[in-house]
Amino acid sequence: MALREILTVPNPVLKQVSTPVAAVDDDLRLLMDDMLETMYAAPGIGLAAIQVGVPKQVIVMDLARQDEPPQPRYFVNPEILWASEETAPYEEGCLSVPEVYDEVDRPARVKLRYLDYHGQEVVEDAEGLFAVCIQHEMDHLKGVLFIDHLSRLKRERAVARVRKLARTG
Ligand code: ZN
Repeated sequence: MALREILTVPNPVLKQVSTPVAAVDDDLRLLMDDMLETMYAAPGIGLAAIQVGVPKQVIVMDLARQDEPPQPRYFVNPEILWASEETAPYEEGCLSVPEVYDEVDRPARVKLRYLDYHGQEVVEDAEGLFAVCIQHEMDHLKGVLFIDHLSRLKRERAVARVRKLARTG
C-alpha cells in the first residue's frame, strides 16, 4: 500500500466528473487500499478517488469512533435510490478543503446501491453521519464540493483560506 497525495481546492481536477468502474478487480482493490491508508493518515472519515486524482466512482469510509476497532467500508459505483424529503444540517469538513467547516443541509436518510470491495452488490439504508458522509463523498464523484453548497462569499473565503494555508505550509 502507498500513500497518495490529496488534492486541495482550487485544483481543477476536483471538478471532474468520475466515471463508473467496469470491474472490481485487484487493480481497483489496490487503489481502494491506498485510498484507505491515505484517508487514515490524513486523518479523515471519507475519501473519494478523485481526491487523489483518479476520476473513478470509488469511495472509502470509516465511521468508527476512536475507541472502536476500524470499520473500513468501500463503495464502488454508488447510486442513491431514494432520499428523504426531510433534511438535516451537519457541520461538514473535507480533506480537499482543509481546516474549513460549515453547515450543509442534506436529506436526512437515503437508500443506496453500490458494489463492495469484492464486487458484490449491496443495497443499504443510511442515516445520521453515514447519510451525511456518503452524500458528501458522492458529490465528489460529480465534481461537487461541500463548499459549493454554501454562499458564494463563504466559498470564496474558504478557497482563499486553503490557498493561504498551502503557501505557508
Ligand atoms: Zn470531501
